[in-house]
Amino acid sequence: MKKKSNDYSGGSFADRMSLLSQWLDNSDKVLIGAGAGLSAAAGLNYLDEELFRQFQPEMVAMGYRYPYELFERDKLNWPPAREWAYNVRHVNFVRYVFPPSELYKKLLKLVEDKDFFVITSNCDRQFMRTGFPMERVFEAQGSYDRLRCIEGCTKETWNIKPFIDKLLPLIDSETFMISDESAIPRCPYCGAPLFAAVRSYEGYLDERERYVDWLMSATEKKLCIIEIGVGFNTPVVIRWPFERLTYAIENAHLFRVNCEYEQWPGHGGFPMVPEELKDKATPMPFDARKVIEHLYNERFGT
Ligand SMILES: [Zn+2]
Repeated sequence: MKKKSNDYSGGSFADRMSLLSQWLDNSDKVLIGAGAGLSAAAGLNYLDEELFRQFQPEMVAMGYRYPYELFERDKLNWPPAREWAYNVRHVNFVRYVFPPSELYKKLLKLVEDKDFFVITSNCDRQFMRTGFPMERVFEAQGSYDRLRCIEGCTKETWNIKPFIDKLLPLIDSETFMISDESAIPRCPYCGAPLFAAVRSYEGYLDERERYVDWLMSATEKKLCIIEIGVGFNTPVVIRWPFERLTYAIENAHLFRVNCEYEQWPGHGGFPMVPEELKDKATPMPFDARKVIEHLYNERFGT
């Protein structure tokens, strides 16, 4: 019989929450890894058709259903005027219209008195906007905030906000293009297009170094590792390193919170936690909101 993904370790929701709760309270250090599933639980869901209808009606008219379908839109070969129309709408909504999330604030309250660190692949800046001390956050995929020269002629980067403010009124809703091509962001040095500065912006290496230093300081400690909503989009950023850390650090335990696990392609090849970690990892196939609010209510009431 095929083994189910969460056969080993765990027990009921209450059993797993109680184990997580004990580790959270009794660990010297807490490492959080957050992926798209955390922001989805907070309401910023890249599979949400209703939100997409509100904020990208022209895209819906073209037959798209949700933002996730457009994550690899480079294959569509859109002209820059379309790319920027889509991009400024998307970033404006995710980064400026959507409010700082109460769920993130609850997560902060759970760990703020601990020696904690966050690594995230989310670009939406929710950690910053909800008051996390950014010297304890590593945005491993950068954020939507910075743009860089696509040709890399300079290390300088530019804030996207002034471009959003300039371009939003220039979106032609008939063609869904920026109506004035001269307004499209270009490098002031070489004239090449500007593009999201994912890992190449000022300060990225410092951020990464702080994260690595913190991890090095955790190797001999009791370490509670909580992974929230990390899928298989970029597993090399959080998911696989967390498995190796859990394996390598003697007194560590991994709690893998992911309610959509079963739906991910490739699921058949990957158990929810690897068998080698069966005594050191607990699969938590529950919604991130349910897990965070349970811990929060236990400590601070509803
Ligand atoms: Zn340039």
